[in-house]
Amino acid sequence: MALYVQKFGGTSVGSVERIKVVAEKVKGFRDAGHQVVVVVSAMSGETNRLIAMANEINDEPTPREMDMLVSTGEQVTISLLALALHKLGVPATSYTGSQVGILTDSAHTKARIQRIETDEMRDDLDEGKVVVVAGFQGVDEEGNITTLGRGGSDTTGVALAAALGADECQIYTDVDGVYTTDPRVCSKAQRLDTITVEEMLELASLGSKVLQIRSVEFAGKYNVPLRVLSSFQDGPGTLIVAESDQDEDSMEEPLISGIAFTASEAKLTLLHTPDVPGVASRILGPIADANIEVDMIVQNVAPAGDYTDFTFTVAKGDYKKTLKIIEDQVIPDLGGGEVNGDDNIAKVSLVGVGMRSHAGVASKMFRVLADENINIRMVSTSEIKISVVIDEKQMELAVRALHTAFGLDKSDIESE
Ligand code: ASP
Ligand code: MG
Repeated sequence: MALYVQKFGGTSVGSVERIKVVAEKVKGFRDAGHQVVVVVSAMSGETNRLIAMANEINDEPTPREMDMLVSTGEQVTISLLALALHKLGVPATSYTGSQVGILTDSAHTKARIQRIETDEMRDDLDEGKVVVVAGFQGVDEEGNITTLGRGGSDTTGVALAAALGADECQIYTDVDGVYTTDPRVCSKAQRLDTITVEEMLELASLGSKVLQIRSVEFAGKYNVPLRVLSSFQDGPGTLIVAESDQDEDSMEEPLISGIAFTASEAKLTLLHTPDVPGVASRILGPIADANIEVDMIVQNVAPAGDYTDFTFTVAKGDYKKTLKIIEDQVIPDLGGGEVNGDDNIAKVSLVGVGMRSHAGVASKMFRVLADENINIRMVSTSEIKISVVIDEKQMELAVRALHTAFGLDKSDIESE
């Protein structure tokens, strides 16, 4: 007998029909003798619908009322799922976050879980009941309803699994696992059986939306076995593991686990800036003050030691605003310089813990891109990631070429 926490996302409970399918799935686990705690999201689109209504009434809604409002989405699905389970003869009780004792801080719309009371859940489980919990929400010390940030039901699932010491937290979604890259761009992309917590964190921060980033951090911190799988088809999904849990022959594992890419950044270069202490902070300070996040940064070595070029990237949506800050504030402050920008760029990143112990990943990446005549305009690296900035037009070509070169194509791994 195992204890599973199973989280079903918005598309998995997107209609009455889908909720019935989820109930059947849960029943299957229970019939096999397992204990099940189910966490559900709101029906797909519901949270957005609620937010839009609030904005129609008041363009500056208070965070407390937003939490009161959006937490209702999940309250609908827990009761419907409990009813669907009853219909199948499965005893089940639904609970809101506050009822089940998910205590958070008071940071409305982005609250953090502080403590979870498990006694009542355990009693229910011991009585043979399925416990159905509303994802994404909790309660603060004063009894105010809070929510955990968009996508927060994943975090509810992992947190409950940690608190209950569950054997596995299963996140059911509309994809059947984590892929080597986006199958819509690379037809040879394939599902990974396992991926490490660190790799998953890198991929999530590079834009993979499979799991809320906080849920992955949580799983890493509390060592919760976390599996992503499809609620629409059967299959093993992808298990997210601590690095040390990888099997012994992981020496043979591919160097690279995944390729992430995005065309949603823009690049700005400040030409001919004085090469003296403090310049980088005088450039980036006003940008940070405007709450704009800077991603990659490259500063050239100045040949004569007097002047340098300074290049960085920001989200495409912040491009115009950043350009204006540079022109209106930074250049006058530096007493000169010239800015040029480009928002037709893409960032392509290789991610893999294998990079740590193997040299030559970067040089191989550069060679593959050179062979495709792709010009690299910026590079940044971390211990398990290499990112390059290239022309947006060449993004898909780069992804496919790298996917093949690093042995990630479907047939390659199958034939090993
Ligand atoms: N319903 C919430 C959202 O859409 C939470 C979740 O689905 O995880 O963000
Ligand atoms: Mg989600």
